[in-house]
Amino acid sequence: MSALEKLSYRELAYHILQTFFSDFSEKELRDCIDNAYGSNFASPKIAPITYHAKNAYLELFHGPTIAFKDIALQLLPHLMTAAARKNGLQKEIVILTATSGDTGKAAMAGFADVPGTRIIVFYPKDGVSPVQERQMLTQQGKNTSVVGVAGNFDDAQTNVKKIFNDTELNEELEQAGFRFSSANSINIGRLFPQVVYYFYAYGQLLKAGKIKKGDSINFSVPTGNFGNILAGYFAKRMGLPINKLICASNRNNVLTDFFNEGVYDKNRPFYVTSSPSMDILVSSNLERLLFYISGEDPVKTKSLMDELTSTGKYRIDDSMHSKLADFYAAYATEEQTGQEIAEIFTADQTAIDPHTAVAAYVAKEYQKNTADPHQTVVVATASPYKFPQFVLTALHAEYSSGSPLSLVDALHSKTGTPLPQTIKDLAVLPLKHHREVAPALMKTTVAEILGIKPE
Ligand SMILES: *Cc1c(COP(=O)(O)O)cnc(C)c1O
Repeated sequence: MSALEKLSYRELAYHILQTFFSDFSEKELRDCIDNAYGSNFASPKIAPITYHAKNAYLELFHGPTIAFKDIALQLLPHLMTAAARKNGLQKEIVILTATSGDTGKAAMAGFADVPGTRIIVFYPKDGVSPVQERQMLTQQGKNTSVVGVAGNFDDAQTNVKKIFNDTELNEELEQAGFRFSSANSINIGRLFPQVVYYFYAYGQLLKAGKIKKGDSINFSVPTGNFGNILAGYFAKRMGLPINKLICASNRNNVLTDFFNEGVYDKNRPFYVTSSPSMDILVSSNLERLLFYISGEDPVKTKSLMDELTSTGKYRIDDSMHSKLADFYAAYATEEQTGQEIAEIFTADQTAIDPHTAVAAYVAKEYQKNTADPHQTVVVATASPYKFPQFVLTALHAEYSSGSPLSLVDALHSKTGTPLPQTIKDLAVLPLKHHREVAPALMKTTVAEILGIKPE
């Protein structure tokens, strides 16, 4: 492999992903990568770095749905259909996904009209931003279905997991010619593509002369289901010099407490915040970290997860806790998040989104508290145009709280930040999806959409 800083995103993606997908031929894997990372991204770099104050920002929001989940979900359908072909799978793949706002749209953008697949997305009716909701309800593609759930993200995610584990329903599906799969980060195919941009960020810092070869850097990651930051942990284990992975949470700070106290406790109030993709109390991918810090002990990992299911809480022992030194964890309140957006705008005339602002705030707090001199990269996970109302409020801008589109226009006038094409498209696309159900009816709804009758 030639020097990291010289590789294009695609070339780097090939080198990293071939270590995980060793059963793909070089041509198969390169075809998947070439199809995933092209003109569908607004930046030819795919994941460019910008600088605000002394921190670097890894911009992961230049894909079709302007959030970082595009990076994995533009690739996943290609990987999945290639794997199905290789294995002679005749069934139609049904992607079932619970979304806190960004996954669902990104998954649909990836799977829309992909032959041999269908996708059903459940989102919490009151837990997503108006722009996110409009993005989903205008989704095109004959094989896409979107359903609003009267509940929060955990309700939606818990029921999707139940449907996956429902043996009876799965048997009926098989008979009808379907096979369930997931586009949530419980699918390992979501995680590996995310390892790539940690290496790519390092290469760009080298190229810009911000670091020297071998220097360690920090990443501050706005965290919900722990998928993004876990990919950073994988990158570190693969040899990338990472000093600290900063786990930044919003007011739903269950992870902050876990890292600092060694106790995971989901028995606490759930808050709807300005960073909805991080409004999560049961962080799916943490189980994978537990596996590593337990010394790859599946029995110990399972008993902790069982405890979580039965009591909503578990405590890790000292030996496990001591292995968390790769991480630093803290959180930002709503007020601190807004302040951070305002501060960056005043300094740089740039608007950042609330998720990114949480990570930026926590990174600065970390730097203040520790005086750690390592270069820090804030992982910028969404475009501010996805969350215009909160950003406008934070910037004390005038706006009338009307349609999502008028908010987008107001943010554009205030900041001058270029409008992504996909946001312009929202204005002309018709609303296509209208279903809303109670969490308890999600299973029946799936059967209905697929045209099968559960007993
Ligand atoms: C999903 C998401 C996150 C959280 O990422 P996890 O992998 O779930 O920790 C943060 N920011 C945005 C914009 C997201 O869409």
